[in-house]
Amino acid sequence: MHYVDIADVAKLVAKNHYTVLMIGSRIYETIEKNIYILHKKLLCSTLDQVKRLLMNDSLIKYLIELAKYESLVIHDLIGNLVGKGFIDMVITTCIDGFLPKVIGGKVIEVLGNIRRFTCVKCGSTVDLNEALNTKFKCLRCSNFLRPKVLLKGEGISKSVWSEVLMEISMADVLLICGLDIIEPITYLPIVAKFSNAKVIEVLRKGEECLFRDHVVVTDDFLKFFKGLVGYLIAS
Ligand SMILES: [Zn+2]
Repeated sequence: MHYVDIADVAKLVAKNHYTVLMIGSRIYETIEKNIYILHKKLLCSTLDQVKRLLMNDSLIKYLIELAKYESLVIHDLIGNLVGKGFIDMVITTCIDGFLPKVIGGKVIEVLGNIRRFTCVKCGSTVDLNEALNTKFKCLRCSNFLRPKVLLKGEGISKSVWSEVLMEISMADVLLICGLDIIEPITYLPIVAKFSNAKVIEVLRKGEECLFRDHVVVTDDFLKFFKGLVGYLIAS
């Protein structure tokens, strides 16, 4: 395991390398607690559990909170790095829907997006605000509107997974930040390593490595991205 600093990461990313960023909800643990809790509650629940959470209101306050923001500072920093061509693709286990707002098609949301809901019966699709307004009831057939998110026990679709594998196999540099520990996503750094990518993990102090290759230790992820933008763009 090599410890590297933000300047080293900037050098790798700055070269003419295909850089893929894999990012997950653990980035929010210190920077936006409510969004972190929303992920925690959703990603380990089954459809029945989510239905109960939505019906007894214990998720609603987090969803209302989420709907208030267009993006957070961390997404704008990532958007900047993508816009300037330093990051070529983002693969995310976040379901908050922020990144597509900021970087459009340059992101694969492996687990879906909580800003979209679909009827379990007729398949009609609505956005988060409409689902909140109708209390998760389909206006066409009165059945339950579920989030378009992969819940516990649900598999990643073949088309999404092949898209992910293609990106990983093209990566010269794979940068990992706060990824959610969900199989088979946790195996992707190994796939990247097989295709000779440099795998860089950004960890907060005390956090355990997924894959011991190049490691950056930081106080929080926001600070890391601010540093990276500082090296690559602002300076
Ligand atoms: Zn319906």
